[in-house]
Amino acid sequence: MNILVIGSGGREHALCWAIAKSPLCGKLYCAPGNGGIGRVAECVPLSPVDFDAIIAFIREKEIGFVVIGPEDPLVKGLADRLDEEGIASFGPSAKAAQLEGSKGFTKDLCAEWDIPTAAYGRFSDAAGAKGLIAKMGAPIVVKADGLAAGKGVIIAETVEHANNAIDEILGGRFGAAGAEVVVEEFLEGEEASFFALCDGTHVLPLAAAQDHKRVFDNDQGPNTGGMGAYSPAPVMTPGLSVRVMREIVEPTVRAMQDKGMPFKGVLYAGLMITKDGPKLIEYNARFGDPECQVLMMRLDCDVLPLLMACHAGTLDKASLRWKDEVALTVVMAAEGYPGDYKKNTEIKGLAEAGSEAGVQIFHAGTKAEGGRIFATGGRVLNVTATGKTTAEAQARAYRAVDRIDWPEGFCRRDIGYRAIEREKLKV
Ligand code: AMP
Repeated sequence: MNILVIGSGGREHALCWAIAKSPLCGKLYCAPGNGGIGRVAECVPLSPVDFDAIIAFIREKEIGFVVIGPEDPLVKGLADRLDEEGIASFGPSAKAAQLEGSKGFTKDLCAEWDIPTAAYGRFSDAAGAKGLIAKMGAPIVVKADGLAAGKGVIIAETVEHANNAIDEILGGRFGAAGAEVVVEEFLEGEEASFFALCDGTHVLPLAAAQDHKRVFDNDQGPNTGGMGAYSPAPVMTPGLSVRVMREIVEPTVRAMQDKGMPFKGVLYAGLMITKDGPKLIEYNARFGDPECQVLMMRLDCDVLPLLMACHAGTLDKASLRWKDEVALTVVMAAEGYPGDYKKNTEIKGLAEAGSEAGVQIFHAGTKAEGGRIFATGGRVLNVTATGKTTAEAQARAYRAVDRIDWPEGFCRRDIGYRAIEREKLKV
């Protein structure tokens, strides 16, 4: 069967890498893809939100299954459009993707179904929002309701900061995504991500991962899209995973079914592990980036039947296997990221780096030109490795990083430090 993957990041490179290994996969295409994806799939210059062009391409190439990577086409209804055209795909409908596309929608669903999350209020007027801020005090969290490319969350240390955030969001800083705000209680604890496949009715838990959002070592500096990740996440004990499924993921899937908007795809729960147990921070309606990269490296079975079962409604008959290994990914970014950075700088040494034991290099923001690779984005490479322990996976990943010749790039040197500290305590 011919397959089309939609997207152009490290997540999509990892998905293509895993799908290409499937005996069910005929010709593999990726739209638009990137410089690394071109090695495992044919890249086609289509925009993920140009639905007409995507449908025409699917017809021309006789594609049997489409895997939608990023949130934007999901929230805009690509899965619905493909359904209307009779084309099977992996990813939720626009209505179901509201779990990611509207924070207020998700908070209301949690309130209605008793799903543990931070106390909150939702407002479209500044006076109401500021009233709740005055009542709850700081620290407090202010969020734009809609998709704001990861920038719509403000952790306010003071009431004044929170009030300013309200004025900025409702004043139009995030456009339509900020027509409404959510004001919520600040949660304390350790964060983890939990992933589960859903077919509308059944849920198959995948695994947990942790990422590092801050740009510099020791979790310093501004927030980014993620500078590295690892899986499993030691904080997520088997007991906690059972609680997350029972208290958070399963009630959500039931609630969505009840609302007539069954969730099909991967549900990515951002969690805070508080002293009172796991609480939901947010949902995403797709794989995390770079968490997907470590999940695909750990998976010890064919990914394609799992993705197809989400669409077919047959997840209850599916099973999966994990390698008994840790996977860890280090993000290499262009100097200056998450602020301004230079583009079109050449990256060398990728073949040597990729030959290190247990290492795969996924491209997140590159282009290939005449056999050479150039950086085109902020986050550029995901140097990913497996190992018996987090420490071993980390050592392998950094050995590969050190063989990459890219003077304009940088990375954190401490990805996985929390898990490694926990491993040391166990010895
Ligand atoms: P979100 O986009 O909702 O995942 O928020 C981005 C980041 O903000 C999260 O990964 C957390 O680090 C932080 N955050 C969001 N909501 C809260 C909260 N209620 N309490 C503490 N931290 C939060």
